[in-house]
Amino acid sequence: MSQNVIQFQPGISLQEFISKYGSEEQCYQALFRWRWPNGFRCPECGGDRYCSLKSRKLMQCNSCRSQISVTARTIFDSTKLPLTTWFLSIYIVTQSKISISALSLKRTVGVSYNTALLIKHKIQQVMKERDDSKPISATLVQVDDAYWGGKKRDGRRGRGATGKIPFVAAVSTNTEGLPVHMRFSQVPSFSKKSIIDWADKHLCKGSDVVTDGLLGFEGFDDADFSHKVIITGGGPESVKMADFKWVNTVIGNVKRSFHGTFHAISKKHFGRYLAEFCYRFNRRFDLRQLIPRFTYVALRTPPMPQKLIKLAELCG
Ligand SMILES: [Zn+2]
Repeated sequence: MSQNVIQFQPGISLQEFISKYGSEEQCYQALFRWRWPNGFRCPECGGDRYCSLKSRKLMQCNSCRSQISVTARTIFDSTKLPLTTWFLSIYIVTQSKISISALSLKRTVGVSYNTALLIKHKIQQVMKERDDSKPISATLVQVDDAYWGGKKRDGRRGRGATGKIPFVAAVSTNTEGLPVHMRFSQVPSFSKKSIIDWADKHLCKGSDVVTDGLLGFEGFDDADFSHKVIITGGGPESVKMADFKWVNTVIGNVKRSFHGTFHAISKKHFGRYLAEFCYRFNRRFDLRQLIPRFTYVALRTPPMPQKLIKLAELCG
């Protein structure tokens, strides 16, 4: 039997991870290198000369005298955690094939539950901002409407259920019909306006889109995409149709992963959970590079507003 090329992708072993990022000094040096690949730049005045205040791991700009840490004004801003804790968390979240809960992260990394939650939300935020900044493109994009939760109250699932969280599920495919990228985004509804807003942000102009006959998907026509509609008739058989094979497969994988990992996901944060899954999927052939690539972006992601973190703590 042939090996599944994705499942057998070489990642970074724990041993290799520890040899590269096992000490505070190694993590600090890596952060410095990735934040300032061309040498230090003062974020206040752009000056490139500084002196180190070794005791506090700060750099003092020679021009404006600002004192800057390697994590200042990044997603790691004001962190009191050891850098090794951040790196280990990034390693665990990026190398895992499925989602990992804050509870599991707490046990593995050795922090409090609230700290694990905060780490997870910050990591997810970096992943979301990164993927949201680049629209997906491909030969063909399979798009479907999907829903999370909401079936318990009235026993109904999908479009008719109450309390559900709607999300657009899109998987781009190449000329061989194989999946390339996925973009799953929480949306307020499946109105035409929602679809137009989503498509403007997340799809490259000129993409070919295939959807079922849901009324809101007419938004793709209004937004000038090449839009093919296939009437599926609904029901369990419709999810097996070849035109929607990949988007339905990935929706199933996301739901299985979430059901198996999380007790509950708050509506306020659901988009970030989706983004975490998408980020890993979109880089599934590049596991070895994920730590530097992720951290490079994290160092360019602004601090997460305190308000958002408080909400995360409250809602889980
Ligand atoms: Zn300066």
